[in-house]
Amino acid sequence: GCPGRLLELKGNIRVLCRLRPGTPSSLVSSEPGPSGTVTTCYRGRQRRFRLDWVFSPEASQEEVFRELEPAVLSCLRGYSVCIFTYGQTGTGKTYSMEGPPEDPGIAPRALQSLFQEMGTGGQHRVTLSMVEIYNEAVRDLLAPGPPERLAVRQGPAGQGGIQVAGLTYWDVPNLETLHQMLSLGRSNRATAATSKNRHSSRSHALVTLTLRAASPPRGPGTAGTLHLVDLAGSERAWKAGAAGPSRGDRDGAQRLREARTINRSLLALGGVMAALRARRPHVPFRDSQLTRLLQPAAAPPQISTRPEDLGETVCSLKFAERVG
Ligand code: ADP
Ligand code: MG
Repeated sequence: GCPGRLLELKGNIRVLCRLRPGTPSSLVSSEPGPSGTVTTCYRGRQRRFRLDWVFSPEASQEEVFRELEPAVLSCLRGYSVCIFTYGQTGTGKTYSMEGPPEDPGIAPRALQSLFQEMGTGGQHRVTLSMVEIYNEAVRDLLAPGPPERLAVRQGPAGQGGIQVAGLTYWDVPNLETLHQMLSLGRSNRATAATSKNRHSSRSHALVTLTLRAASPPRGPGTAGTLHLVDLAGSERAWKAGAAGPSRGDRDGAQRLREARTINRSLLALGGVMAALRARRPHVPFRDSQLTRLLQPAAAPPQISTRPEDLGETVCSLKFAERVG
């Protein structure tokens, strides 16, 4: 790919924005490219957002991945990288992260690229874990039994980080095994829910790969980590409530609760990234299960160009501006 582009910015938070194709609108326009802009016209007010990278609506999966590949490969040198897709439901988060089988997205391309780079020499030990966060409950999607709720605790003093008690880590010797594990995780995600699509848009899914050099030149060496996260939809609570059945209805109440916990965790994510960007001494990682489990490094928001979604689009861009 293109070594250097994102790597020059390692340690930083990078915000990439992809516009979903179709539904052209005079209300959202973009100037693609590095340091590109997105301009919205909402409630008579024009706003221009500058982001680290703006993809045109025609950008291919390959083009999107090309910008992320150097960061992905830096995991092999011990870096911790987190890639997540942020945006309203329906804006293409899952399409960008997973993609259809015939046109894979960031996650399958990242894994392919990592395994290709590692070669067959067995120089790295790769472990995989996969969890889902739904209403602040963390569930292990790769447990041998039915997915169970896990406790997230602060690690021992001095060691830092968090511990997820009982989380399953699988050794993945090759790409084929990895894909089998991921499809197992995805099916576990679906079986627990009545409506697969709705559930997946109301929960966060985190895939974590740890890459440890099998025989590092000196000492045990540091392990690189890659988090790939498909976030829950960012639409605001009042909208989710309004879209649900009438008040007093159990389903409606559940939707509102989901929306509130999602909003709280996305707000916490924004808070963590803003603190990291400002290099504040205190980073509020403990504010949600999502931020406890993540070490964010990049934030590609997804925005919609449909006029009726413009309010959400402006919100997503505000998030991007705050964290980028
Ligand atoms: P989200 O995960 O944000 O709720 P999806 O990824 O499910 O949204 O996308 C919603 C719909 O739009 C899906 O049918 C998806 O295939 C389509 N879509 C999203 N982005 C693109 C794209 N860049 N090219 C083609 N289709 C897309
Ligand atoms: Mg989705």
